[in-house]
Amino acid sequence: MIIILLGPPGAGKGTQAKVLAERLKLPHISTGDMLRQNVQARTSLGLEAKDFMDKGALVPDELLTEMLKMRIAGADTGEGFILDGYPRNKSQAGILDAMLKKMDRELDFVAYLDAGEPVIIQRLSGRLVCRSCGSNFHVTNMPPKRKGICDNCGGELYQRQDDKVETIKKRLEVYLKETSGLIDYYSKQNKLHRISADGASSVVLDQVIQLAKGADDSLKV
Ligand code: AMP
Repeated sequence: MIIILLGPPGAGKGTQAKVLAERLKLPHISTGDMLRQNVQARTSLGLEAKDFMDKGALVPDELLTEMLKMRIAGADTGEGFILDGYPRNKSQAGILDAMLKKMDRELDFVAYLDAGEPVIIQRLSGRLVCRSCGSNFHVTNMPPKRKGICDNCGGELYQRQDDKVETIKKRLEVYLKETSGLIDYYSKQNKLHRISADGASSVVLDQVIQLAKGADDSLKV
C-alpha cells in the first residue's frame, strides 16, 4: 500500500508515520529526515538544502527529486511505503505521479492530518528530536525520562533550527500557499481522508488505520 501523510507542519505526520510504518511493516520515507541526514553528513545536497530549511522555505525540486526517486526504488518498498513530507506542492505531486506510473504502481491512500494553528505552535515550539535515531519528544506533552536524552537510544535531544516560533510561522505560510492545494488535488482523485489531528496521537493513529483498512481490506494490521 502506498500512503501519503499530508498536513501542516506540527500535525504529527512524522509521529504517525513512524508508528504506522511499524504496524503496517512498510518503510517510512520522510524527505525532511533524509534532508537533515544530508545536512548532518555535509553532503553537497545537504549544504545546498540547509539555507532553505533553516528559513522554513521549500528546498527546490531539482535538489530533491533524485534523492526521492532513488529511495522509492529501494529494495524494501515492494509492499508499499509511507511518504511523510512529500509532496509539498502540485509540482511535486505531478513528479510523484510520473515516478509511480513509470514503476507501474499507484498511490492508494492519502491521510490528511488536520490541526489548528495554536496546537501546531505549541507542538512544534516544544518539540525535541534525537540526533541519533530521529525519535521525537516534547518538553511537556511527551518529556523524555532523562532531560536531553533519548529514551530509545540514549542519543542527544535537540530543538530543530526551524522549530523556533518565527520559522514555524514562515513554515505555516508556506504550507498554506504551496501545500494546502493538495487537499483538493487528492480529493478529486477520491484518495483523501481527513482526520482531525488536534487530539492524542493514539486516537489519530486508530482513525488512520481504520480508514486505511476501509481503502484496502487486505491490509494486515
Ligand atoms: P519536515 O521535516 O517535513 O518538516 O521538513 C523540514 C524542512 O525540509 C522543510 O521545511 C523544507 O525546508 C524541507 N523539505 C522537506 N520535505 C520537502 C519537500 N517535499 N519539498 C521541499 N522541501 C522539503
